[in-house]
Amino acid sequence: MKVGVAREAAPGERRVALVPEALGKLTAAGLEILVEAGAGSGAQIPDEQFVEAGAKVVPTTELYAQSDVILRVQKPTESEAKILRKGQVLIGLLQPLLDPNLMQTLADGGVSAISLDAIPRTLSRAQTMDALSSQANVGGYKAVLLAANAYGRYFPLLTTAAGTAKPANVLILGIGVAGLQAIGTARRLGAVVSAYDVRPETAEQAESLGAKILKLKTTIDATGAGGYARELTAEERAAQQADLNEVIASQDVVITTAQVPGRKPPLLVTADAVHAMKPGSVIVDMAASALGGNCELSKAGETVVTGNLVTILSPENLPATMPIGASQFYARNLSALLLQLIKDGALNLDPADEIAGPVTITHGGEIRSEAVRKLLEPAGGGA
Ligand code: NAD
Repeated sequence: MKVGVAREAAPGERRVALVPEALGKLTAAGLEILVEAGAGSGAQIPDEQFVEAGAKVVPTTELYAQSDVILRVQKPTESEAKILRKGQVLIGLLQPLLDPNLMQTLADGGVSAISLDAIPRTLSRAQTMDALSSQANVGGYKAVLLAANAYGRYFPLLTTAAGTAKPANVLILGIGVAGLQAIGTARRLGAVVSAYDVRPETAEQAESLGAKILKLKTTIDATGAGGYARELTAEERAAQQADLNEVIASQDVVITTAQVPGRKPPLLVTADAVHAMKPGSVIVDMAASALGGNCELSKAGETVVTGNLVTILSPENLPATMPIGASQFYARNLSALLLQLIKDGALNLDPADEIAGPVTITHGGEIRSEAVRKLLEPAGGGA
């Protein structure tokens, strides 16, 4: 079976789906690896390194003509999707719920679309395939580095002959995978870290990394299904915002990571809260996207400096800013999934399988994912 690694085309995307270190296990399993020329350039991996690891570097047309399976990081553009042919398999972080029309295009073209963001995350044998976690980890780390870079003071307590610098007070809102990594990274830089989440089970994890749990006046338990949070009610939201407004003003750095599956990210840092912060404070809104973010004043992909001199960073694709590390993790996730799906030299996309079932979004000309089918219903559906 021929497996092709595509060059990413999305603006700013520097990751690559496989790295040379990941090829050994795949070639040992009998796979022939083709790599689109220049696919690793964004991650500083020259074509020769792929060749040395046993791959064949080919031009774009050859990659799409010959590969049985195409590996990517991000979903293809509509025009790239149309190059794919019937029977070909596409694997990547395809975001099927954000772009159901693309899934329809792939299904119509007879392409089997497999999405790593549909991996069952609570299944322990799927943990090595959990690309959402591996990339969120990179994001949480990088968000702290960006914050430290934008903050015009020290993170650690520093005593020098020229005086003493106070440690930065860093607040992490949302203690999922990215939030936990952000806590660990900010602590390693010496900041005083506090953290908050609406799932009480996160408290122990945050404390074990050295964060103090922020206790609001209103206690909210919004534990939802599958380890995620549920959306708050309007009353809970108002109480949470009022409580957070009181706390945020005293923070030097706020990093927000809060998400609710299938919903707009919750608004945690209001404009009033930002206006009450000290000049020089920094906010990194990791949830910012076209849907909105956790901070009322953030603008996805941009840096905003408010009138009271608070810097708000809203990076859209943090993992792509650390492309080598992020690609290494992603390649491990992807090769673990690929090896799991192979049975007797071919891909086995058994709908009843607890991993192959959920990750297969389209197959045999049809959309298998019920959530995607619902979104495509004429009434507009809803996840
Ligand atoms: P996510 O990106 O969906 O959300 C990030 C965090 O934001 C979550 O902790 C969530 O509770 C929090 N949040 C949502 N609304 C909030 C609000 N209004 N106020 C404050 N915080 C809010 O989460 P994630 O990082 O993808 O992780 C989701 C879950 O998946 C976690 O429980 C994680 O432990 C779990 N997970 C499990 C495994 C496993 O069991 N193998 C692997 C990876 C992740």
